[in-house]
Formats: sequence, C-alpha cells, structure tokens
Amino acid sequence: MPAFQTVRGMRDLIGEEAKTFTHIIENARKTAKLYGYKEAITPHVESLELLSAKSGEEIRQRMFIFEDLGGRQVALRPEFTASIARLTTTSLKNEPKPLRLFSIGTVYRYDEPQRGRYREFWQSNYELVGSIKAEADAETILLTNSLLKFLGLQKYAFKIGHIGIIRGILSQEGVDEKTQNAILQRMDKKEYDAALRLLESETTRQILKGLLEINARDWKDTIEQIKDYVESYDKAIEATENLAEILRLVTESTNLTVEVQPSFARGLEYYTGVIFEVYIPELEVALGGGGRYDKLIEAFGGEPTAAVGCAHGIDRIAIALETQKTFYGDTDEKRVAVIAINESLKSEALKIAQKLRESGIPVEFEVMGRKMTKALEDADKRKARYAVIVGERELKESAVMLKDLTTHQQTVITHKDLVEKIKN
Ligand code: AMP
Repeated sequence: MPAFQTVRGMRDLIGEEAKTFTHIIENARKTAKLYGYKEAITPHVESLELLSAKSGEEIRQRMFIFEDLGGRQVALRPEFTASIARLTTTSLKNEPKPLRLFSIGTVYRYDEPQRGRYREFWQSNYELVGSIKAEADAETILLTNSLLKFLGLQKYAFKIGHIGIIRGILSQEGVDEKTQNAILQRMDKKEYDAALRLLESETTRQILKGLLEINARDWKDTIEQIKDYVESYDKAIEATENLAEILRLVTESTNLTVEVQPSFARGLEYYTGVIFEVYIPELEVALGGGGRYDKLIEAFGGEPTAAVGCAHGIDRIAIALETQKTFYGDTDEKRVAVIAINESLKSEALKIAQKLRESGIPVEFEVMGRKMTKALEDADKRKARYAVIVGERELKESAVMLKDLTTHQQTVITHKDLVEKIKN
C-alpha cells in the first residue's frame, strides 16, 4: 500500500512549527482578553446559504461545499464573520452593545497552494458589533498592532483605505451595486485597467483613475489629495473625513506605520467603511486585515447594526516570525524522566511522577520497560534535565536518586525535598 500523504493544501504541524502556532494562539487569546473580547466557538460546518449570503463571488467559488447525509447543502467555513453575524441575530440578539467577540480556529478555502497560502489555515478573528464610531475602527487596528507587538515582530506596516470613498463616487454616478462589486474585485487583484474599463462614463473613469494614481508624502497629504477629487460627492466626502478621523486616532495613540491607499480594495463584498491590511516587507501576502461592514447583520435578518472586525492569518504570522528571526523563550524547561529500577517499584515510581506533575513539573515516565542505562540514554537524548531513579534502598528512607543529566551528578534526596530541588 502507498504511504499516505496529506490532502493537497492541508498541512501537518509538528515539532517547532506546532510550538510556534500554539505561541501565536496564546497571544491572540491574550489580546482578546486585554481588549475585552469574549470567545465564541462556532461550528466548522455551516449552511451554504449562510456562508454564501454576503461573502462575495471570490470566496463563494472557493468553498468546500458538500451535501450531508440528510440532504442539506453545507460548507466548511471560509471565515468567521458569517457565523458571528448569525450569532448576533439569534442567541446574542438581545445582548447589550457593544458586543466584542473573538474566535480562533481553522478555516477552509480552495486557494492555489503555495508558501503562505493553504486550503486549511488558521485565523484569529475579532468582531466589534454595535458602534459606528471611529474609535471602534481604530480599536481593530490597535489590537492587531498589540498582537504583533506581543509576538515581538519588528517591522510591519498597515495599509489602509476606505470602501466608502469609491462606492460614494460610483453610487452618485448611478453605477449599480453589481458593477461596483466587480470593479472593487478587480482593484483587489490590482487589475486597475480592467476595473476602469467596467465604467461607461468617461468622467467617472477619469475621477477614479486620478484617485488610484494619488502619490503622496504621508497620510495627511493623501487625505488632502483625495478631498480634491471627491469634492462634489457627498458620501465620498463623508467617507474621507471618517478615514481621516480613524487615522488621527490611530497615529496619535501609537507610533505605528500607516500607508493610505485610495486604490486599496478587499475581496470580501460586505465592507462598507475603513479597510486595512498588515504586511511585513519580506512577504508579499498580508498577515491580517479587516474593516467595517455596517450592512451585513441586516442582510442576515437582524436589526440594522454597525460592525467592524479583523482576522489574522496565523500560518502567515508564523512565517513572519521565522523570517524576522523572532524567537521566544521556551517555557517547558526542566523536564524530568522518572525511571523505576525494577518491575516491583513501578507503582511507587508512578506515585512520585504524579506528585511532581501536580507541582507543575513535566514528567515523562519510562514506559518502554528498558534497562536503566538505556532509559537514561534516552532521557538524555530527549533533553530531559533530570532523571528521578526509584530504587529499593532509597525508598526505604522515603528518598530517590536524582541524576542531573547535564552535570551527570547523582544525589540521594528525600521525597519531601524533591520538588523544591528540581524547581531551583
Ligand atoms: P480575509 O478573511 O480574506 O480577510 O483574510 C484574513 C487573513 O487570513 C489574511 O490576511 C491572511 O493572513 C489569511 N489568509 C487568507 N487566505 C489564506 C490562505 N489561503 N492561506 C493562509 N492564510 C490565509
């Protein structure tokens, strides 16, 4: 029989890689806690109808869709936002606003696999529901910054835009929503000429082209230049002012690097306001991103509710940590191997192992029935710090032999003092 492989686009995470993922997940949870986001654990499988409601053609075409044995059309979640919108309009409908929800886990998209792009990948997702204020938008950017800072990432920058600017111009020019979505989708893929070709009016095309080509010194200058282009479009002016307010809050409260791009669009159709992505210079793909989606909850049958959120790609953050050589301290030092000298001492040895574990010391118990020399060699290979050897003679004095595997020194030590000795 051939050796089995993982399915294309799916990965095993083992050893150091698994450790890095756990480290990122822990910090994502810590960030959620520090910003007041409660964890919501939602199913991996949702109805196709829910998942395709508002996610945009891009993602709809890349979903893992199947019929379950009961004949239901279902799919593996391609993101968390639809599940959170479902929760907000059902179980959490009457919860006081703002609602801050955090989710973490795997999501599934039939992408073309390459470095940083998989078909099963991990996201940490934060949604802030119920506020239209700029401080809510700023919060999602700030918490993304906090997460990357906790992880020790050195160089990263935020790319920021506002969907309301382009939609404001197009709506006032009478361009229907479907065409608007098609234009934004092409812009997301950086196919700017194709996006412009979708416009019938030459005047609109020139305005949009001008916006896309803005080249400014800093974000304040960019805002000024955008204002010149949108001066006769009310909704676009509002959007530009909103963007300026968010940028002011973010840059006055931290020193993060922002780059404002009027040509910036994101694949998901549901965005209505600010959008952002975060990048490191060494990687072409984004580590995370988010934005405002004020119409989404309504589309799921809820009351009109403002909301803003962001998601981070843990697989890509892991690549970024490796690329920028960001190391973090190992926490599982001082592991101990517990070995019984002979068969009859096994339960005594197990008792000692339990006591050590209950005091917070990680123990690997000798389960292979090997002779002492072999068992010690193995403990050394596994980089255990100590071996606790349980023998008849020591046991009579309620003691064990403690072998330091770095210095190779052995000392007899009483059960009472063992934990203290290992810990110090
Ligand atoms: P999105 O839900 O499209 O806003 O994506 C949020 C983040 O998920 C992105 O910024 C990426 O870091 C990550 N991501 C998206 N697609 C993939 C993929 N195919 N493989 C790995 N990470 C991904």
